Amino acid sequence: MVTPLADLHVHLEAAISAELLVQLAAHGDIALPAGFGPEGFTWRDLGTFIEDYELLGQVIKTADDYGAVALDYLSRAAALGSIYVDFILSPAHGWMNGIRYGDLVNAVGAAVDEARAAHGILGSLSLTAVRAPGAFFGPEIARRIVAEAVARPHRLVRGFGIAGDTGFDDLASYAPAFQAARAAGLVTRAHCGEGEGVKGVIAALDVLRVDILDHATDALADPVVVKRLVSEQRLVTVCPMAHVFVGVVPTLAAHPAWPALRAGLKAAFGTDDPIFFRVDIAETYGQVAAHTGLQPAALASFTRNALTSGLLDEKDAAAGLCVLKF
Ligand SMILES: [Zn+2]
Repeated sequence: MVTPLADLHVHLEAAISAELLVQLAAHGDIALPAGFGPEGFTWRDLGTFIEDYELLGQVIKTADDYGAVALDYLSRAAALGSIYVDFILSPAHGWMNGIRYGDLVNAVGAAVDEARAAHGILGSLSLTAVRAPGAFFGPEIARRIVAEAVARPHRLVRGFGIAGDTGFDDLASYAPAFQAARAAGLVTRAHCGEGEGVKGVIAALDVLRVDILDHATDALADPVVVKRLVSEQRLVTVCPMAHVFVGVVPTLAAHPAWPALRAGLKAAFGTDDPIFFRVDIAETYGQVAAHTGLQPAALASFTRNALTSGLLDEKDAAAGLCVLKF
């Protein structure tokens, strides 16, 4: 049996296909950087990654564009055998283009519904704030994002988290936003342990009290923290290729997730920024199988972790679990 797949960590802008990006860039008369090809951007370094990500913000300019990106990604994911995708969505990137919060989530939500009707794939949305310089980022904007989610509830908006540069500012300064998100019943998540060390992961656990750790790569090499994550059954999203590209781990073979997964780490997988990391979710599961030796039943348990993460409501999670059983 082929294991049904789930992608619990993918940033919507970076889920765009090279084809759609070329199309939208041509429409907006925007030049693409040297090295951009049918497989996506050419990885150079973190600096150009940030520049290229900003370019995505110039290309994906309307709520309809966001919907088109989501529908396209879900269609491709379904064709690869995926039964569920949670999109990480940054409302502030929409605000930069004058897109209102309600219009953004409605457009992406409609795309999720359309993909489900066409392909049977489930979807949900995790809102994210971003750690970066500028007026659209930081702790105050994080609070504003949660306030929008509370003021304009949407059935598919189930999560709130923080992404961006983990070394930029103090993770603890986002605590008020996370408190508000928890009070609103949102599942909370944080990018951490991406080169800033174990301290980011500990802050995410003990200060922000998140439900899901995104990456936590630095902690996966620390036996004490891994023991804690396993005993507390904390869900960690692992995106192996991303960590190799950004240089958090030197090679795929040396990824600290493999021993942690074998030790019982509760994980789900993600593609993170596929237009940059040139990876899809089927390949990601393939990497996990190749490097851990885990069998299909164990791989299916990671899909189950995604379905039961709380980012789907009970009814949708049950629908996904039904597919997983067969
Ligand atoms: Zn990410």
